Amino acid sequence: MKRVRVRFAPSPTGPLHMGGVRTALYNYLFAKKHGGDFLLRIEDTDQTRLVEGAEEYIINALNWCGIPPNEGVSVGGEFAPYKQSERKYIYKPYAQELVEKGFAYYAFDSSQALEEMRTRLVAEKVLLPQYNHITRKEMQNSLTLSSTETKHRIEGGEQYVIRLKMPVNEEIKVNDLIRGEVVVNSSQLDDKVLFKSDGMPTYHLAHLVDDYLMNISHVIRGEEWLPSAPTHILLYKYLGWEEVTPEFAHLPLILKPDGNGKLSKRDGDRLGFPSFPLTWKDPASGETSQGYKERGFYPQAFINMLAFLGWNPGTTQEIFNMQELIDAFSIEQVSRRGAKFDFEKAKWYNQQYLRARSNDELAKEFLIIICERIPDANHDKLDKICGLLKEKTQFVNEFWNIGSFFFIAPQQYDADTIKKKWNENSLKAMNSVLEDFSSLVEWNHLQIETTFKIACEKVEVSPGSVQQLFRVFLTGLPGGPALWEIAEILGKEEVINRIKTAINLI
Ligand code: GLU
Repeated sequence: MKRVRVRFAPSPTGPLHMGGVRTALYNYLFAKKHGGDFLLRIEDTDQTRLVEGAEEYIINALNWCGIPPNEGVSVGGEFAPYKQSERKYIYKPYAQELVEKGFAYYAFDSSQALEEMRTRLVAEKVLLPQYNHITRKEMQNSLTLSSTETKHRIEGGEQYVIRLKMPVNEEIKVNDLIRGEVVVNSSQLDDKVLFKSDGMPTYHLAHLVDDYLMNISHVIRGEEWLPSAPTHILLYKYLGWEEVTPEFAHLPLILKPDGNGKLSKRDGDRLGFPSFPLTWKDPASGETSQGYKERGFYPQAFINMLAFLGWNPGTTQEIFNMQELIDAFSIEQVSRRGAKFDFEKAKWYNQQYLRARSNDELAKEFLIIICERIPDANHDKLDKICGLLKEKTQFVNEFWNIGSFFFIAPQQYDADTIKKKWNENSLKAMNSVLEDFSSLVEWNHLQIETTFKIACEKVEVSPGSVQQLFRVFLTGLPGGPALWEIAEILGKEEVINRIKTAINLI
């Protein structure tokens, strides 16, 4: 088998949507699985759509995700440059070669003429209102004009594009690794522009020439390119590169949570989940969109989740580290159907990674957050605290919300619990608890629990009826991690203080 060389080829028109990251990921996994190369190529031939900062964002995002290219923009390589605007001079000869061979032609139509053609075709209810083997006969191009006239116009500096001369009624076959054989009749297809009047190639020509020159073996890209694939197959043939035509795999869409249509940034904004791997600040509008990283996701969890959006290994295992993904991945197991995005599932993945982390590692992460609030916090029990908190949330950045009471005594008590549970009996029970806690020597969660229960029973109060009150006295909150462990971590003196303070305050 030919050396596997795949490329991720985004256009720097904005941040990378998670759908784009998944395309990059599948390329990466495929390359690594086959000991091949994963390239990053920037496709910026449409200079009008460039967005400042987008290229840098793409590079940073791939690095954060742990899927860096081993060749391409930012790393270099044998086939540099990897940015199409820097390769501008390469493409035109190929377009001209196609004209010379009779597979392409010059077209001089103004945008107004093209618009008029479209309007007329739509009015006539033509099924495919496009520049094609029928309509080109009525337009201003080197097929309708004499060769002297064509030459005259070009030499006179008239603007022109180069269009592919789509043949009539030919069957074009695309062998897709995911979808199998797709057959299209060429009469359905339009005469795509290959080279623009601004001196730049279009995507169709540029990516194909680059894939050829960069020895790309497999083109793995989004499903939206499937309709163009027959045109590309034809171009390989016309350029005499049939033998080295790459294999194709068109990836299914990532769908909205309800399954209706392609997932977009708007869905994320509407439903409250990130669409991009890293936070992005739009340079034009100044609008900021939070990324998965900043939302608190671990890159491994994000990647594991994305890998499963459209692929699965055919077993019940869901947690895969990068090496396991590489080993298990196969293009044939990528689904043809779109995959519904589920943010709850994404959070579940993060939780699995959170729980798998050692308390010690979590303590380091949490310490950064704590220090932003209380620089001189006492953290000798941070490991234990993290051990408790990780069972209750999916993100380290939520530890503070649910566990700040470990560092700051509660300022407020859950009103509902107080209303329901605070009465003469509970006061009696808490006073008894206070007394027995004071004489308790071994301060550990088992002893605390037993002592608490005996103290309540001594004054004929059921321990179950005051337990939640005790929790609220210690934490302010009606729910949270294991109560007796919280008490153990807080320490005897602090627990006694908190009970006393609460009794005085209520
Ligand atoms: N520049 C194209 C895009 O951004 C790449 C398509 C391809 O991979 O061929 O979608």
